[in-house]
Amino acid sequence: MAATSRGTTPVPPDSRPRLTVLSGPSGVGKSTVVAHMRKAHPELWLSVSATTRRPRPGEKHGVHYFFVTDEEMDKLIANGELLEWAEFAGNRYGTPRTAVLERLESGEPVLLEIDLQGARQVRESMSDAMLVFLAPPSWEELVRRLTGRGTEPPEVITRRLEAARIELAAEPEFDMTLVNTSVEDVARELLALVAVV
Ligand code: ADP
Ligand code: 5GP
Repeated sequence: MAATSRGTTPVPPDSRPRLTVLSGPSGVGKSTVVAHMRKAHPELWLSVSATTRRPRPGEKHGVHYFFVTDEEMDKLIANGELLEWAEFAGNRYGTPRTAVLERLESGEPVLLEIDLQGARQVRESMSDAMLVFLAPPSWEELVRRLTGRGTEPPEVITRRLEAARIELAAEPEFDMTLVNTSVEDVARELLALVAVV
């Protein structure tokens, strides 16, 4: 068993999941790991979510997120255009349904980076999805990473840490846990799981 994994069973090649969900508390390193994976494998398709959150410096519309207004998000939800959606720390986030289903129909692996509530919805609607939980090496390290990122004001960090306690408690709901001690190690394990390598 790889050093970063916990409670996992090796996945035989013929049963590798095509839809992989990566979840974990804010600041654990999900985006960093995914960016590392895509640097090595630009062909890996990651769903681009819609969000009502304002862009952080450097974030691009259509690349990191589709940045939408509250009204636009209302419409996406009302029209059934989202595979799942959730409110997280004061903003709404959702996965555009059609793009994901098209990729899956053409046999391409799909990666979703979404919160716990979204992961639970995917579990309900797509029972063969593989749910991966990214865990921090410790609570202190999670706080350090979230604070050190410097992208949220203190009150938002507090909300995200409150959510993190709930998310950490839900770890047993996931098929697999990877502990993000080393970005390289986690990225390698996830690439093998997503069946890109
Ligand atoms: P998330 O997408 O889960 O909210 P980020 O990818 O933005 O988290 O990472 C939060 C911070 O933690 C960033 O500053 C990132 O550089 C740092 N980070 C991510 N992974 C590691 C790691 N394995 N070791 C140390 N710092 C990390
Ligand atoms: P951030 O604001 O830090 O980019 O994301 C906050 C949280 O929202 C993270 O846990 C992230 O995984 C989650 N998230 C991003 N996109 C989606 C989505 O489409 N659906 C859901 N449910 N959560 C998402």
